[in-house]
Amino acid sequence: MVGVLALQGAFAEHERMLAELGQDCVELRDADDLARPFDRLVLPGGESTVQGKLLRELGMLAPLRERIAAGMPTLGTCAGLILLARDVDGGQPCLATMPVRVVRNAYGRQLGSFHARATLSGVGEVPMSFIRAPYVSQVYPGAQVLARVGERVVAVRAGSQLGLAFHPELDGDTRIHELFLSL
Ligand code: GLN
Repeated sequence: MVGVLALQGAFAEHERMLAELGQDCVELRDADDLARPFDRLVLPGGESTVQGKLLRELGMLAPLRERIAAGMPTLGTCAGLILLARDVDGGQPCLATMPVRVVRNAYGRQLGSFHARATLSGVGEVPMSFIRAPYVSQVYPGAQVLARVGERVVAVRAGSQLGLAFHPELDGDTRIHELFLSL
């Protein structure tokens, strides 16, 4: 069972894609939901400042951090990657379980949203939709680069955490979710 953080942002799109792969999801909306049976976690895109504030206020931050740090497979996309990052330029670290530094809203106004195709290690070439995306500016020991667009790192893995600067739930390609389900 996959727990999908459903406080704000693009959680329904992840649920749709996971349903296509035959996976049941539970929406995590408050601390009580954390008692429901799930053994994987999706942190969707959206607004990391809003999601981080709600995680704190709802008392979900510490219990989720503990479970991620204990090895629960976790997929963070865009704002979700920002929530996972240990260091955040232009924002506050939140869960801080992933040994990377990210830069928020890194592409400026002109390039607020764009598409690319690039190779993701172990998967192949995938479509990538970026929406006011971050990128990974430093990869600390314990994390590996999975994909770059140009010079910029846009996908990383650290143990069973996957962090993506883009939105794999929007392009109708299920391979990244399959990789997540295989962790
Ligand atoms: N710009 C957003 C943030 O900083 C992330 C955008 C997204 O998740 N598509 O949280």
